[in-house]
Amino acid sequence: MGFCFGVRRAVDMMAEATQETGRMVSLGSVVHNPQVVAQLKEKGLDVIASPDEVDGLPVAITAHGVSEAVVRDLEDRGVPIVDTTCPIVTRSQQWAKRLSEEGFAVVVFGDPNHKETRGVLGWAQAKAYAVPSVDEIDNLPEDLPSRIGVLSQTTQTEAHFAEFVRALLARRMDRISELRVINTLCNATTSQQAAAQELAHRVDLMIVIGGRESANTRHLAEVAREEGVETHHVESADEIRREWLNGHQRVGVTAGASTPDSAVDAVVARLRELAPA
Ligand code: SF4
Repeated sequence: MGFCFGVRRAVDMMAEATQETGRMVSLGSVVHNPQVVAQLKEKGLDVIASPDEVDGLPVAITAHGVSEAVVRDLEDRGVPIVDTTCPIVTRSQQWAKRLSEEGFAVVVFGDPNHKETRGVLGWAQAKAYAVPSVDEIDNLPEDLPSRIGVLSQTTQTEAHFAEFVRALLARRMDRISELRVINTLCNATTSQQAAAQELAHRVDLMIVIGGRESANTRHLAEVAREEGVETHHVESADEIRREWLNGHQRVGVTAGASTPDSAVDAVVARLRELAPA
């Protein structure tokens, strides 16, 4: 649980770069975690919402990545870039580009508003769509090219991605001449989800720690709830209420990929403090 390799790498790269440059900005938050963002701000890293706000300071691209157009625009303007895009997300972006160059429509199984998904779509040069759920497959345009490449947002579960591909094939079989499925799920995420699922079996209360905006943390909470266990998603230890523990014997704690170890330690300490002796 906690910081995955991609987030750890991005936070380290940004901390190091900020130390070297004095001040810099990041395009969006480095992670969906207000505490980590605050710590980096103290070191000199400010968050900006759009490339339009870049005013000469070096710019960090976060682990979720950005579209190719944003990278080219920054390069054309001569802005120094610290690219911390997670290599697993870069792989998705490269697949989106390659599939579209080869004439495939690109379908990303993911949240169209999530930064990673928007970035990946931005590397596909032709038709590219994000579909957040099986129910929304029918909203894909009727005139979709017959060759379709399917990718997944890295944080989806294996089971949901497999179900999505099955449903896409079943509903569009008459119009698909070639379907190419690229497994762009992140192992860090899937093994974390498997561990959360396993833990949920052994406890009667789950606390999942991570930013409210973190797709990965929300998925972990979903996985635990699907196991039928009472689950609370918190950002920090002070959100834990004494009454949550009432009637429960065993508490499981897990944390999203953007959650620092310090937040996990604080939650465990708080639970120990609240637990009846
Ligand atoms: S969850 Fe996986 S894809 Fe996302 S940043 Fe972490 S290692 Fe990279």
